[in-house]
Order: sequence, then structure tokens, then C-alpha cells
Amino acid sequence: KMKSAASPLRDMLKQLHAEFKDNHDGTVASYIPELAKANPDWFGISLVSIDGQAVDVGDSNQQFTIQSVSKAFMFGMAIEDHGRDHVLSKIGVQPIGEAFNSITLDEATNRPFNPMINAGAIAAADLIHGKDFPERVARMLKMFSTYCGRQVYVDNTVYHSEKKTGHRNRAIANLMLNFGMISEQLDDTLDLYFQQCSILVTSHDLAMMGATLANGGVNPVTGERAISAEYVKDVLAVMHTCGMYDYAGEWAFRVGIPAKSGVGGGIVSVVPGEVGIGTFSPRLDAKGNSVRGIQFYKALAEKYGLHAFEAK
Ligand code: GLU
Repeated sequence: KMKSAASPLRDMLKQLHAEFKDNHDGTVASYIPELAKANPDWFGISLVSIDGQAVDVGDSNQQFTIQSVSKAFMFGMAIEDHGRDHVLSKIGVQPIGEAFNSITLDEATNRPFNPMINAGAIAAADLIHGKDFPERVARMLKMFSTYCGRQVYVDNTVYHSEKKTGHRNRAIANLMLNFGMISEQLDDTLDLYFQQCSILVTSHDLAMMGATLANGGVNPVTGERAISAEYVKDVLAVMHTCGMYDYAGEWAFRVGIPAKSGVGGGIVSVVPGEVGIGTFSPRLDAKGNSVRGIQFYKALAEKYGLHAFEAK
């Protein structure tokens, strides 16, 4: 079982949790009823180091849907299934200052701009191998379970809501099919995408996923490999440039570590060679990022000099 990390770090995280706990800014996502039901006060912070030590503060056991955080990990899986060049022929790695659900494709190549927006994430889901749909779902769940170090599941109610209301995502997929950027298994691919968004995780799981990337692709607690070492940098690069919706540039400036957020209120981040961090707080700002999550990371980056380009 997991060792418990040194208490100075725990005290520091507890202090930051207490400092931001009463910030009630932002609103819980409400595009489907299941997300609107989240308790806006939930606030969990978790950290897992590459030697498997964990610190969990606040509501770190509370489950929520992973949503767009899944996109980074599915991109990694698409590259494992097809190699870098093929994936890059279907999905760009160019940040855009547009919303996550933008219907725009790159005019020169018809590719979605990057795998962190819905278009690129649906194109990545299309690339996930499997002899049939159940096998694609099973491989996707196994991949997330390996990152988390425990079996994860899809919240079926959320999945059905995502599917029922996902007209815009269906439009994006049809546009990509029109340009030959995704295959004709479009209904299955959208289902896979809706399911990946509906996986239940905790802030502890997100920290474990981040720690797995920080550890070269091997889960530091189970010792199981979730992604080949050679592709870890591909995932981290798109997280660094595109992971925080249209706040990604400012995040890279202010916090400076690869991260990915989701409208469930989760943020995963990675300090390569050191730790993975996961936060959960469901109130979102106008760009779709967790308000207290961002506040916490800014403070942590300042205290610890986490920025990737910090002068050493
Ligand atoms: N399921 C959401 C969608 O496709 C994901 C939203 C998000 O976390 O950005 O619209």
C-alpha cells in the first residue's frame, strides 16, 4: 500500500486548501443535469511523487467525471496505436484561442487544430484500435485504469446525457468525416468519446495519472506501464501548449507546467521527473477552468518555483 508523504508538504497543501476554500467564484457546469448536481463546495487536492508517496487534502475521495482531462491520455494512446506521423496527419498540435467546442478546422489541411479541443479529441478517439466497439471501449478503460492504478468505470447516466445532448460534437464529427479526416465508424467513435468523458475519477486518481507521466509512463505505485516512454513527451507538449482551453498561454506563463483541465472541475498536471498533481473543484470560470484549481496552482508555482523555465 501507499506510503504517506512527509508532513511539511501536507501542511503546506492544507494551508493552501484552507486559504482558497471560501472562494465561491465561478459556476458549476450545467450543460447536462448530472454536472449541475455537483456540490460546488467540493475541493480536493492530491499529489503523488514518482516514488509513489501521496498527499491528499480535502475531498480527495470524491468522484467526478474526468471530461476533457481524458483528451491528453487518449491522444497518447492514438500515437501508440498509429505512430506519431500518422496521428499528426489527422490532428494538428497548434494551440488556438478558440473555445473547446469550436467547429473550425485548419483550412490548409482540414485537420482539427489540436487534440485538446473536441474536434481533435474526437479524431483521436477515431484512431483507437479494436476489432469491434466493445474492444475499443475495453482498451480505453484499461489504459485509464493503468494510469490510475485501479479499475475505473464510466458513469452511465453522464454518458447517456452526453450522448443525448452531444449535437455539436456530432456536427464536428460529421464535418471531419466530410473531409475524410475520420473514418465511417463515426457513431461508435462519438460513443467512445462520450464514454471517455464520463469516466469517474478523484483528485487522487488525477495525481496518480500525472505521476505516471512524470515517471516516464510507469505508474509509480503498481509499476505498470501506461504509455511507452518515447511518447510521454508528445502528451506533455500538447498539455503544455493547449491543455487549459483558451487560458493555455496564460497558464504556461503564470504556472508553467503541463496540465489539462475538464468541465467536471478536475485539473491534472505534471512536474516531469518529480510529481503529478490533481485538483478537483467544480466551480468554473468563463473559460471552463476550475477557479480554485487555478488559484491553487498559481500559489503553488510561486511558492515552489515549479515553472518549467524557472532559472535554476
Ligand atoms: N463532454 C464535454 C464535451 O464534449 C467535454 C467538455 C470538457 O470537459 O471540456 O462537450
